[in-house]
Amino acid sequence: MDKIMIPHGAQEILETLQFNGYEAYVVGGCVRDSLLGVEPKDWDICTSAIPSRILYSFRDKRVIETGLKHGTVTVVMDDGQYEVTTFRVDGDYSDHRHPDSVNFTESLREDLARRDFTINAMAYSEKTGLVDPFGGAQDLKRKVISCVGNPNDRFSEDALRILRALRFASTYQFDIDNRTSKAIHSKADTLNEIAAERIRVELCKLLSGKGVLCVLMDYSDVIATIIPELRPCIGFEQNNRYHQYTVYNHIAHAVENYKGNDDVVNVALLLHDIGKPLCYTEDERGGHFHGHGVVSHDIAEVVLDRLRFDNKSKADILELVLYHDSVIEPAPRVVKRWLNKIGEVQFLRLMDIRIADILAHAVDTQQSRIERHHALVQIEKNVIEEEQCFKLKDMNINGKDLIEIGVPEGKRVGMILDALLESVISGYIPNDHDILVWCAKMLILVGGA
Ligand code: ATP
Ligand code: MG
Repeated sequence: MDKIMIPHGAQEILETLQFNGYEAYVVGGCVRDSLLGVEPKDWDICTSAIPSRILYSFRDKRVIETGLKHGTVTVVMDDGQYEVTTFRVDGDYSDHRHPDSVNFTESLREDLARRDFTINAMAYSEKTGLVDPFGGAQDLKRKVISCVGNPNDRFSEDALRILRALRFASTYQFDIDNRTSKAIHSKADTLNEIAAERIRVELCKLLSGKGVLCVLMDYSDVIATIIPELRPCIGFEQNNRYHQYTVYNHIAHAVENYKGNDDVVNVALLLHDIGKPLCYTEDERGGHFHGHGVVSHDIAEVVLDRLRFDNKSKADILELVLYHDSVIEPAPRVVKRWLNKIGEVQFLRLMDIRIADILAHAVDTQQSRIERHHALVQIEKNVIEEEQCFKLKDMNINGKDLIEIGVPEGKRVGMILDALLESVISGYIPNDHDILVWCAKMLILVGGA
């Protein structure tokens, strides 16, 4: 086993606790990620010291009493913050969410046994090396997610573990062990009892994993439990030459095609066609889904509210769902109008969504749409690089200038500015102060705008 390189703050915490006579280890995700050769996000520490002894051991440090009742305190070191938790065993989980009680224990093994998956149930210290009572290292090698103990019981205790299993399978492109997988399917319903915030966090992580396609395809029942609005999409045939997949499979491929890690884009892709089954019509040319952007938008709003997305993400996702299918002609004036309407970040996201969407269509229909897409991206790049004017702020005239030439303060100022911006975007007049002032005067004279 390779030595795990523990950051010096965490190492100092281990040594302090060990010096005081307690056991102490780094544990969970950081051990898993270190063995995988991935940089751990955080380093959690577990110890046989009860919380009051942890506090006493670090009385010369800044300590935050994060979850003292559950045995967790955060110790602030110069290289970062570390959560230090007393070894614990969880009591019964009568609500499928929280243990009814938490008891401290002196046994590391008991602490590891309460953890969700074998790959998350390993501890390490320089003194003892790897402590791996449930075969986590072997499961990492086999690339398998496997519950510690009986999967049915473990999912009954905390149903969020179902989504965590899918999340790890997606992130690391692992398989899910047979027994664990069966239990996931049979316990999927219990996810209904889990707080929306916890579901949202795991769902977003799941969507940005490299193995997301397999997970979405193999566990559509779980996905449809947390987003029942997707259920009609599963198996829904599209019957037209642009599509080779059912609506749900198309969605899954579109999510997989996006390689970035922007949650807004991932969630927008997951929901972009959610309204299609409601919009289906058929004629001699096959199936159509006219107006599905609007219907998907409306359904997505309900989903995002239920999953408690913050207002900004929600608005951004909804805008992308609404416009994912809009016709955008590859012409500078059109691109500039879109940039003015939705802003640069959203435009780039929209481009990411459209290419992910196109690449999930029937292969023989892609070429012309891909070319059009590249043209759009190139035009946008030029507009930004050349600092072309596409919004009011870019214009070499402002409200004050208009008031100086006699426009009364109020609505009319905005209307004239809008009209001038439209003319600049369309290329009818240059973005030049004197010319814009002259045009404004003309507009006032003829009573336009
Ligand atoms: P990440 O890399 O996303 O932080 P993680 O595995 O470290 O993944 P955390 O939520 O930080 O996830 O949890 C730390 C550890 O606590 C896990 O590795 C696991 O041992 C344990 N754990 C977390 N959530 C659960 C749960 N719902 N049930 C059982 N054990 C859990
Ligand atoms: Mg972690």
